[in-house]
Amino acid sequence: MNTISAMVPTTDPNDFRDGDAWLAGGTVLFSYGSHSLSRLLDITAAGWEPVTITEAGIEFAATCTIAQLYALAQDPALPTAWSAADLFRPACDSFVASFKIWNLSTMGGNIATSLPAGPIISLCSALDARLLILSPGGKQRHEPVAEFIQGEAKNSLAPGELIRSILVPAHALAAKTAFRRLSLNNLGRTGVMLIGRVDPDGLFTLTVSGSTPRPHQFRFPVGDYPSPAKLVNCLEERLSPDDYHDDIHGRQPWRRAMTLRLGVEILNELFSASGPGIER
Ligand SMILES: Cc1cc2nc3c(=O)[nH]c(=O)nc-3n(C[C@H](O)[C@H](O)[C@H](O)COP(=O)(O)OP(=O)(O)OC[C@H]3O[C@@H](n4cnc5c(N)ncnc54)[C@H](O)[C@@H]3O)c2cc1C
Repeated sequence: MNTISAMVPTTDPNDFRDGDAWLAGGTVLFSYGSHSLSRLLDITAAGWEPVTITEAGIEFAATCTIAQLYALAQDPALPTAWSAADLFRPACDSFVASFKIWNLSTMGGNIATSLPAGPIISLCSALDARLLILSPGGKQRHEPVAEFIQGEAKNSLAPGELIRSILVPAHALAAKTAFRRLSLNNLGRTGVMLIGRVDPDGLFTLTVSGSTPRPHQFRFPVGDYPSPAKLVNCLEERLSPDDYHDDIHGRQPWRRAMTLRLGVEILNELFSASGPGIER
């Protein structure tokens, strides 16, 4: 990046000025390049603990790498009841990237880049994770990942705002989950990623991502579980054909058809034939 005149180690949003970008793993910044950036504000030396486990859930520092998330899936410190940790490895495997990228690229960088195929976006929105965002002027705010993403490469970050942490609640980690992902080719970029979750209190949440520029969530409380036909109707009512992403990694009709198909597969996996409201 030959326009860069300074690398500044800082995590203070008050240091941010026009022409700056936060630098995390650099796997986007150094591969896309830039003609306009003048400084990189390096957050990698912040020394943030990558993973903090408490009774309330998991706090991931924005600088937690994909490799660290992958390792956490088998960390004995994780409560055994948190079966949703089974999603961590499939999410990491959804990167079209080698271990070299996994060792550098960060969870915060993936969310901030806000691509439809962002596997950390899919994982964190499916688990109802919230972001802690530091703003200029010493302010902070929280926002659910599913709402933070507003479209392809669009999110709610204002200039100078920095993602500090990703907070995953314990109730979502204790959920029973089902995961489906499709790509047009082996080792291809994610075209569709759906994650289903049944919480300990019975709430069923289906998160559609990958096929749409931003995540969409569908929730069904106990007593109102959908049949496959009702689920398809809900998806069709909420998502118009134009709500699906369309590019070389998947045309709209394919992404839409696969979203409906994988949604029904997840429903069937999570609920037995005798489960409430499920028609076969
Ligand atoms: C070979 C290869 C394959 C890839 N495959 C995929 C893929 O399948 N899916 C996918 O989504 N991406 C993919 N990527 C893109 C990229 O690796 C990931 O999105 C990665 O997670 C970005 O993280 P990073 O830490 O490297 O971000 P960086 O490059 O450091 O930053 C990316 C952007 O986010 C901003 N940013 C970073 N951290 C923060 C923060 N904490 N707060 C606010 N803004 C921040 C930066 O300013 C920059 O604008 C791939 C990249 C390569 C090179």
